Amino acid sequence: LQKGLEDLAGLPSETLDGFKMPLMVNTGLAQDITHSLNHGAEGVGLFRTEVPFMVSERFPSESEQQAVYREQLEAFYPQPVTMRTLDIGGDKALPYFPINEANPFLGWRGIRVTLDHPEVFLVQVRAMLRASEGLNNLNIMLPMISNLREVAESITLIERAYKELCSEGLQLERPNIGVMIEVPGTIYQVPQIARLVDFLSVGSNDLTQYLLAVDRNNPRVADLYSSFHPAVLNALNTIARACHGSRCSLSLCGELAGDPRGAVLLMAMGYDTLSMNAVNLPRVKSAIRKLRKTDAENLLNQVLLLNTSEEVVASMAETMSNLG
Ligand code: PEP
Ligand code: MG
Repeated sequence: LQKGLEDLAGLPSETLDGFKMPLMVNTGLAQDITHSLNHGAEGVGLFRTEVPFMVSERFPSESEQQAVYREQLEAFYPQPVTMRTLDIGGDKALPYFPINEANPFLGWRGIRVTLDHPEVFLVQVRAMLRASEGLNNLNIMLPMISNLREVAESITLIERAYKELCSEGLQLERPNIGVMIEVPGTIYQVPQIARLVDFLSVGSNDLTQYLLAVDRNNPRVADLYSSFHPAVLNALNTIARACHGSRCSLSLCGELAGDPRGAVLLMAMGYDTLSMNAVNLPRVKSAIRKLRKTDAENLLNQVLLLNTSEEVVASMAETMSNLG
């Protein structure tokens, strides 16, 4: 079976009726690059930049970061690489930057940390921009956004770094800037956020955790954590509806995109791209190639009427197995 799936790498990700669903990969380590290219990814939808920070013994310098980012941008060129600014806090700690809090997932996380430390943010953005010189396939993505002020402040800092580097003589194009939708409150500000940026990407791992108030890493409540919970599916659908008609493209880069059942529903909702761990790409592509877009839409309409995750999972199992 695996062999059959590997053979898909060169085939397009499209439905039986010719609808194209671009599949991207999530990366973090340099090793992820070869793996992703072998699986026929159409770019990077999420580069978790905290990974190189986590394997370092101190904050990596601007030139050290630049080298890591250049490697990613070059490997995927001319396809886009979406680099997320440092997303530490929550469950991701840097040994040289301890954060001790009673509620880390509700605390100092992601953009909250870097906006409080603009020097860290600026060094990182400068390194990304320097790395993109001559390639121009860089997108910058902001994690854990919970209000419009954070979006505006981040854009101001990125613009400042861009102008500084241009005046230093670099030939740069402005990167696309995007916001992660992973804090439930932002679901209700999608149109306002979409006016400020170029793309949105849903972090379904955190969005599920926060919508259902279930720690994504706590085994005791693991059976309550499901992205197939009707509340989550309705939230994802609401985001797609709200984004539709804005100038933003919409992606989803959580684990749900790497589950063929999730991918099919997201395609039906109108997500423009899906980003997943490379190992899941072949099975997602295989599922997409086996059905028509209208089959996916019918399935979505049926699933959105159900009341529990269990019902959703059971109904999906039936349809997916009928697809062979
Ligand atoms: C997410 O929250 O869904 C996501 C993609 O980011 P991370 O898993 O790194 O928090
Ligand atoms: Mg997240």
